[in-house]
Amino acid sequence: MSEKFNVEEIFAEDVFTLGKMKEYLPKKVFAEVKNVMENGGELSLATADVVANAMKDWAEEKGATHYTHWFQPLTGVTAEKHDAFVTHPDSEGKMITEFSGKELIKGEPDASSFPSGGLRATFEARGYTAWDITSPAFIKEDATGAILCIPTAFCSYTGEALDKKTPLLRSMEAVSEQALRIVRLFGNTEATKVTASVGPEQEYFLVDRQKYLQRKDLIYAGRTLFGAPAPKGQEMDDHYFGVIRERVGAYMKDLNKELWKLGVTAKTQHNEVAPGQHELAPIYETANIAVDHNQLVMETMKKVAVRHGMACLLHEKPFAGVNGSGKHDNWSLTTDNGVNLLDPGETPNENIQFLLVLACIMKAVDTHADLLRQSASDVGNDHRLGANEAPPAIISMFLGDQLEDVVKQLIETGEAKNCREGGKLETGVSTLPDLTKDATDRNRTSPFAFTGNKFEFRMVGSADSIASPNTTLNAIVAEAFCEAADVLEKADDFDMAVHDLIKEYMTKHQRIIFNGNGYSDEWVAEAERRGLPNIKSMVEAVETLTTDKAVKLFEKFHIFTKAELEAREEVLYETYAKTINIEALTMIDMASKQIIPAVVKYTKTLADTVNAVKEAGADTSVQAALLADTSKYLAEAKAALTKLTEETTKAAAIECIKTQAFAYKDNVKTAMDELRAPVDALEMIVDKEAWPMPSYGDLIFEV
Ligand code: ADP
Ligand code: MG
Repeated sequence: MSEKFNVEEIFAEDVFTLGKMKEYLPKKVFAEVKNVMENGGELSLATADVVANAMKDWAEEKGATHYTHWFQPLTGVTAEKHDAFVTHPDSEGKMITEFSGKELIKGEPDASSFPSGGLRATFEARGYTAWDITSPAFIKEDATGAILCIPTAFCSYTGEALDKKTPLLRSMEAVSEQALRIVRLFGNTEATKVTASVGPEQEYFLVDRQKYLQRKDLIYAGRTLFGAPAPKGQEMDDHYFGVIRERVGAYMKDLNKELWKLGVTAKTQHNEVAPGQHELAPIYETANIAVDHNQLVMETMKKVAVRHGMACLLHEKPFAGVNGSGKHDNWSLTTDNGVNLLDPGETPNENIQFLLVLACIMKAVDTHADLLRQSASDVGNDHRLGANEAPPAIISMFLGDQLEDVVKQLIETGEAKNCREGGKLETGVSTLPDLTKDATDRNRTSPFAFTGNKFEFRMVGSADSIASPNTTLNAIVAEAFCEAADVLEKADDFDMAVHDLIKEYMTKHQRIIFNGNGYSDEWVAEAERRGLPNIKSMVEAVETLTTDKAVKLFEKFHIFTKAELEAREEVLYETYAKTINIEALTMIDMASKQIIPAVVKYTKTLADTVNAVKEAGADTSVQAALLADTSKYLAEAKAALTKLTEETTKAAAIECIKTQAFAYKDNVKTAMDELRAPVDALEMIVDKEAWPMPSYGDLIFEV
């Protein structure tokens, strides 16, 4: 029998929750901490000392020996440096452990080895991590022991953000402040804060670890760089929501348990479209906590997989020819007195505040479609976006029939007199209840879809941090709210002014609405007619960060300075170049040391066979034809290998980082494709016994 546990008991057992703080802290200190959490500000050092000590006591009871400032540098993964609670032993040699307020609040990791995009020359290596008091501390347990993790933001000596967390926190403040202006206009005087809530659905693949270890491409690049299609793919649609296999089920159970202990509300799990692909979704929470938790989800997914003899692949496109993985970033805004600004209610046409919010979001998404596109780009996502699969690279908004109709009425007549209702769905079976139907169907092809009381940004890559997409969403919506509030706060006749503004925004930005099939070629042509940007790759999206429009936006709301944006551009080009370089070198290595030698051996076996069969006086046409084909592809592979080696060397020597990134995209990637083609053709005809690594079939069907 497998282990049983009680979710209520284990939930957040490894988290220093508010409840635990209350238990471990004197009343007055607890009140001060709570106040800073809710209203901002700083803890006094004396208070921080008390908090740190309490945190240490709790952590030590849980077996922790070290603490770490846990942060999210621009590498996209998390970073940690462990420090033990040990101090100088006293004169009698006894150890009294310590954790001070200063150590809790501020860390000073040597920042020189993290990407900074030139913001910090290596000789100015000082960087600071600062406790994000709104995200709770937690304990991570692995072979290193138990470590107390303090979620932090990471800045340079001169205060520039060197991480993904700082801008996110800044954007949350910006959108809160501007959204408050909007709700005030509608008479909401109670709300003091508006929170961006985020629920990220995470897709992933599981493969057998022994097979994984036989594929250098999976080890070094996280995706297969070679691989002929398996005889069966996802065409039968039998995996989506299919019965979860035992081994995967045991993994999911263990994963949930680990996540619950960490206070992550893992909620939904199912098989995804591609064989070997699965999904996990937690319940949504405040954006910065959701970002932290998503990092923990990804980390825990990998860790638990190893325990179960599997490897978890988070890459956006681990296998060519089958669906890749993404992350659906569900996003909404809620006031602290409980109003979800994205909740249309039963009759959206009468909900003027909602219509204004919607009009502002239309304006934001249309004005900054390029930035949103950029925020969802990473190297792996280039294989998905615009590449014949889940969301196209073109940003558009899906509103559904009901809202689209309301918007149409508003644009045409300036008024929305009615709205379509969901009605009943008759099941036609007397013993089954008739179901109430949503007013809106789903559209899986839209990159940015309204789903009832939230937007679902579906472009995000599965391996990427969700910090950038949410920072961008908060920023662009803050700007639209600000511009609307600037007009409306001055209006003599508010009702008239808001009515006009909604009509104006919706009319002006209606081109961003698209309810049709986002995967179709017609849409690409239509989007071009509408003047919507179609940015095809990550490197082409980088520049959107420093257009005048973007700098103005981010500086106005103190989310990024121009210098920080330029630094991020550099980091992105660098990341791209480095990633493709690793992929190219991995292909070169696999082709020259594994694949070509194996095929050469195989041709010898074939040649020997031809000779032997000929000697025996039988027909050798099949063997000879096979040998001819194999030799032909082998020669092509060798030539392509030489070309890839040359292109990689050339690209690596380019000094300008932007030119280099483009060279990797245009020349190296093309050369990679050219090598892959003959190798995959060889895999189809070479004896399976002779092929030096597990096939697609072995990897995705035999977990
Ligand atoms: P789907 O039907 O698209 O699979 P679900 O309703 O299961 O979506 O929700 C997917 C994710 O969206 C979950 O993480 C869920 O908690 C989150 N979510 C639900 N409501 C909101 C909201 N108001 N704001 C942000 N995220 C939300
Ligand atoms: Mg969804």
